Amino acid sequence: MLATLTAAKNAYQVALENFDLAADALDLEQSLRAMIKYPERVLQVNVPVRMDNGRIMRFQGYRVQHSTARGPAKGGIRYHPDVTEDEVKALATWMTWKCAVVNIPYGGGKGGVTCNPEEMSLGELERLTRRYTYSILPLIGPEQDIPAPDVYTNPQVMAWIMDTYSMTKGFPIPGVVTGKPISLGGSLGRNEATGRGVFYTTASSCEHLGIALKDARVAVQGFGNVGSISALTLHNAEARVIAASDIRRAVFHERGLDVPRLIAYRDRTGSVVGFPGAEPIKRDEVLTLDCEILIPAALENAITEDNAVQVKARIIAEAANGPVTTDADRILEDKGVFLIPDILCNAGGVTVSYFEWVQDEQHLFWEAQDVYTRLERVMKSSFAEVLKIHTDRRVSMRLAANMLGVSRVAEATKIRGLYP
Ligand code: NAD
Repeated sequence: MLATLTAAKNAYQVALENFDLAADALDLEQSLRAMIKYPERVLQVNVPVRMDNGRIMRFQGYRVQHSTARGPAKGGIRYHPDVTEDEVKALATWMTWKCAVVNIPYGGGKGGVTCNPEEMSLGELERLTRRYTYSILPLIGPEQDIPAPDVYTNPQVMAWIMDTYSMTKGFPIPGVVTGKPISLGGSLGRNEATGRGVFYTTASSCEHLGIALKDARVAVQGFGNVGSISALTLHNAEARVIAASDIRRAVFHERGLDVPRLIAYRDRTGSVVGFPGAEPIKRDEVLTLDCEILIPAALENAITEDNAVQVKARIIAEAANGPVTTDADRILEDKGVFLIPDILCNAGGVTVSYFEWVQDEQHLFWEAQDVYTRLERVMKSSFAEVLKIHTDRRVSMRLAANMLGVSRVAEATKIRGLYP
């Protein structure tokens, strides 16, 4: 049985266990395992920042390159009070397998700063970002390691990183980060990419299981960027999004919420709470509603051994990273729930980040439809590859995705002859 995040288990431990399971299933030789299992580089930095009150505060930051076997390290930067070295190592490890699953020429990386952006002013965030960028300069660069947004970082933060990096070189280098504003070399379609990717893999799952997308009931936990775009694309395909939650509460409508209006309402008020015409329900009820498709799109540990038994969905699309714990995985598998694992389900974001990097490097920008068409092709073919391993080898979708990712990294490592 595969390991995912649990409150008791440290995320990095879980990532290592998942690797071992995939390596066992692939019968990988021990010397190769030892080479690709652990991060290549871990950089820990102290980030002093002058706060608005004149005081200097020290923040702890990290940048981890788990693998560069298949290309430059790639992965987001997280600003969150719970960021630890082990969490960043776990997220970097997952990025390695994720990039390999969708077969884009990147390794895996991740960065983070332990801070609470909700308590910081824009000026403090800018100073933090610039100083952190300066601290991780030895690692990042368009050919080495390309950061992107993650939880509590956004296109503005990417613009500051790009500017700080460019200042040290003397000319603009947009390819050092992805998820930038369009005016600075960002890609059309990047903002919606993860949600669209969730849609393509969910639609493929419905096709595989013989579930009609039209009128399929969808519940979305976490109506942020990824959750709301997943909901919108499913709504546009005539699925019925019956519930959506955020950190505060949830709203429900049996016949389906008007998703475009809900997004506009959230943008105006900052929450789904009080959406006219919808019934207010408890936040976590969303996870156990009677529905065909459940999309956890918030944070880790949403579905645990405490609530997995009550899950009624037939498909769980892991839009967030690590939303289902190890114990829950086991329970859901026994119940016959079809799981689209995070390293496949939410890989649309990094895929369009790759497109953005390609466009920056070529100084030639694509139309939105080109981005969507290419994204659809990548997501659908990756889904088909994972599904084939799942059916041929009779393993869970999660193990199948890990096997695909690990095997590609192992193959690249072997061919490059990275042995000492
Ligand atoms: P976001 O900050 O835009 O949205 C998160 C949403 O979750 C917010 O609406 C927040 O209120 C809500 N939330 C938080 N805790 C909750 C809870 N307990 N119950 C219900 N709602 C809760 O973040 P995002 O960019 O949409 O990312 C969401 C997840 O997707 C994260 O796990 C992230 O790592 C993952 N992810 C994001 C991308 C991307 O491109 N943005 C790519 C891959 C994976």
